[in-house]
Amino acid sequence: MIRFEDLLEKVRAYSPDTDVELLRRAYVFSAFEHRGQVRHSGEPYLIHPLAVADFLADMKLDAVAIAAGLLHDVVEDTLTTIERIRELFGPEVAHVVEGVTKIGAIPFSSSEERQAESFRKMLLAMVDDIRVILVKLADRLHNMRTLNHLSEERRVKIAQETRDIYAPIANRLGMSKVKNELEELSFRYLEPQAYESLRARVEAKRRATEGLVEELKQTIRAKLADAQVPVTEIDGRIKRLWSISQKLQRQRIELEQVYDFIALRIITESVKDCYAALGIIHQTWSPLPGRIKDFIAMPRPNGYQSLHTSVISEHGMPFEVQIRSIEMHRRAEEGIAAHWKYKEGRIGDQRDDRYFQWMRQLLEYQQEVRDPQEFIQNLKIELYPEEVYTFTPKGLVKAFPRGATPIDFAYAIHTDVGHQCIGARINGKMVPLRTRLKNGDIVEIVTQAAHKPSRDWLNCVVTSHARYKIKHLIRQEEKSRAIELGRKLFEKDARRYDLSPKMLAEGDGWSKALADFGAQRPEDVYALIGYGKLSAKQVLGRLAPNGQLREKAPEGAVAAVVKRVLGGGEEKIKVRGFDDLMVFRARCCNPIRGEQIVGYITRGKGVSVHTASCPNVVKLLYDPERRIDVEWEKGDAGARYTVKLTMEVEDRKGLLAAVSAKIADINTNIKNMEARTDEDKRARIDMTIEISDLKHLERVIKAVRGVQGVLDVSRAGRAG
Ligand code: MN
Repeated sequence: MIRFEDLLEKVRAYSPDTDVELLRRAYVFSAFEHRGQVRHSGEPYLIHPLAVADFLADMKLDAVAIAAGLLHDVVEDTLTTIERIRELFGPEVAHVVEGVTKIGAIPFSSSEERQAESFRKMLLAMVDDIRVILVKLADRLHNMRTLNHLSEERRVKIAQETRDIYAPIANRLGMSKVKNELEELSFRYLEPQAYESLRARVEAKRRATEGLVEELKQTIRAKLADAQVPVTEIDGRIKRLWSISQKLQRQRIELEQVYDFIALRIITESVKDCYAALGIIHQTWSPLPGRIKDFIAMPRPNGYQSLHTSVISEHGMPFEVQIRSIEMHRRAEEGIAAHWKYKEGRIGDQRDDRYFQWMRQLLEYQQEVRDPQEFIQNLKIELYPEEVYTFTPKGLVKAFPRGATPIDFAYAIHTDVGHQCIGARINGKMVPLRTRLKNGDIVEIVTQAAHKPSRDWLNCVVTSHARYKIKHLIRQEEKSRAIELGRKLFEKDARRYDLSPKMLAEGDGWSKALADFGAQRPEDVYALIGYGKLSAKQVLGRLAPNGQLREKAPEGAVAAVVKRVLGGGEEKIKVRGFDDLMVFRARCCNPIRGEQIVGYITRGKGVSVHTASCPNVVKLLYDPERRIDVEWEKGDAGARYTVKLTMEVEDRKGLLAAVSAKIADINTNIKNMEARTDEDKRARIDMTIEISDLKHLERVIKAVRGVQGVLDVSRAGRAG
C-alpha cells in the first residue's frame, strides 16, 4: 500500500515548491469522508484515491491534479458536495473533481464502433481541462488493475468500456504506456480463455528465444559502439498479447507465422543517431522488404515518432527493431504528459515543427505559455470545438454542428419525427424548440401526428439534412395549394367563357397545351396558374375550339364564405366565385371589417387580403392579373380584430387612466398598453385593442380624441 508520506516525497522530488499543505488537507479530508468504506477487495477505500494520486505523481502532475486525484470519488461516493470542495480546496481543484464526477456519470451503453467513436469525442468535448482526463485515466487504470475483485458482470462491463473508450483516449493523447496496459487488462478480462492460452504459448516462445534475444542485443551494442553511435538503452521484449492477438485475427495467421513478436528497441541520443543506427542494423542483417517505416519524418497522428524495420537474424529468425531518441521515447510512453515534464522553453519550438501537430493546433491561442507548469494549468481541451454531442433517451449518441436545436435532433432521428415535432424535453425539462443543444444533453422529442413544420424552422436548424427536409415539405405543401387555387381559377374562367371543364378535358386540346407549357399533367398547369406564372385565360385560349374565347354575360356574383382563423378572432371574408379558398389578412395593412378590401393571389399561400388603400396594392407592386375581388361576410358579429393605436398626449398625471377608462366605456378590450415620455413635456401611448369592425374603431378613436390632453390618435403602422 502506498503511504501518503511517500507520495509527498515523490512530488517534492520533481517539484520542490509544491503546495504540500493543499495535498495534506486533501488527503485528510478524503480519508475522513471515505472512512469506514471498503473496496471489493476488502481493503480500506482510501487505497484507491491514494493509488490514483500516486499515478498522477508518476506523471509529474501539479498539486491541483494530485489533490483532485485524492478527492476524485468524494462527491460521488460520500455526502460531500462540490460546493464544499470549492470552499475547502479552491475553484481549480473543484473544477477538476466536478469534471471527473460528470464524465463518470455518463451512461455508456453501446459497443458499436461508431457509437464508441462519438462517445469518445463527446467525452473529450465535455472536458475543458486536460487534468480531468488524466485523473480519469489514472482512476480507470487502478480500477482495471484491481478488477479481479468484482463480479463477472461488472468486470466485463468495465473492461468493455475501457477497451472502447479509455484505451483509445489514452492513445489519442499519445500515452502509449497507459493505453497498452488498459488494452492488455481489457483483453484479459473480456476474453480470459483466449488471453490465457495465448499467454502460455507466447511465454513458451519467449523462453525458447531468451538466449537469442540476449545475443542479438550484444551484437547490436558492439556494432553501434564500433561505429561510435551513442546508445542510451537497448531493450528486447515480447510484443504485447493484445497486439499479437489482433495481428493473428487481422492477418488470419498462426502464432508460428508471427515473425515480429520479438521487438528490439534502441534508444539513441539524437535523431541523427537514429538514422545511423538504422544503417548499421541493415548492414548487419537483411531487412524484410516493405517493412521499413519512418515515423520520424512522418509522425503518427498522435505524435508518435520512431523508425521501424524488420530484419532476419543469421539463425533465420525475423524480428522487429524500433529506433528512437530519448525525447521521442518519453513522448511515446507518456504522450501529452511528456509535454510539461521535459520541455523547456516555449511550446512549439521550431525543431518541434512536425511533432504533436494536433496538440499545437489546440494550443494556438495559448502560444505565450512559457512555463511547463503553466502549460498544464492553462491547457483547455477544445478538441472538437465545432461539434456538440447529445443522447437519445436510450443512450445513443447523436453528434451535431454547434448551434443545433431539438429540431435538428428530431430530423436526425427520422424525417417524420422531424415533421411532427411539436416540443422537446432536454434532461427531462420542456424547452423551446429553438434551444441550442449542449454536450451531454439527453434529448426527447415530443411529436403530434399530422403536425407540419413551419417556414420559421429554417431559421433554427443548422444541419443541412433538416433544412432540406423542411424545405422539401414546404414546397410540396405550396405546390398542392397552388394546384388547388389554379384549378379553381381555371374553372371560374371556364364558366366565364362558357366552356365546360369536362368538355375541355375530353377534347384533345389538353395534350397540345401540356406540351406548349412544358407540363406533364393538367395538375402541373394548374400549379402554374396558382403560382401566377400563367393566367387561366392563357390556358383556356389554347384549349378553346378555334382558340376563340367569348365572354358569357356576367352572372350575379356567386359568393361563398371563406373561413380562416387568425390570431384572436375568427373572421370571414368572401371571395367572389370561390369556395373555401385559403384567405388571410395581409400583415402590412391588417384590414378590419368594414374597410374596403382587395384580394391578391399569392404564390402558393392562398389569397391575401389588403385594404384598398394599402401602399402595396396602390403602388401596383403587384401584378393586376392576380387581383381578385373579395368582400366581408355580412351579418357576422363576434369577430374580433386586434389593432394598434398610437397616441400623442400631454405629459400629465391621470391621463393614461382617463384614456383607458374612456375606451373601456365603449366595451373595448385593451390587450396591451405602453407609455413613454418625450423630452418636450409630451408622452406617447402605444395601445393594442380588440375591435369588431371599422365603425367600432372609429368610435374608439373619436372617444379618445375627446379626452382632454390627447393631441393626436392614429392607427399604428398606417398612413392616416
Ligand atoms: Mn475512482
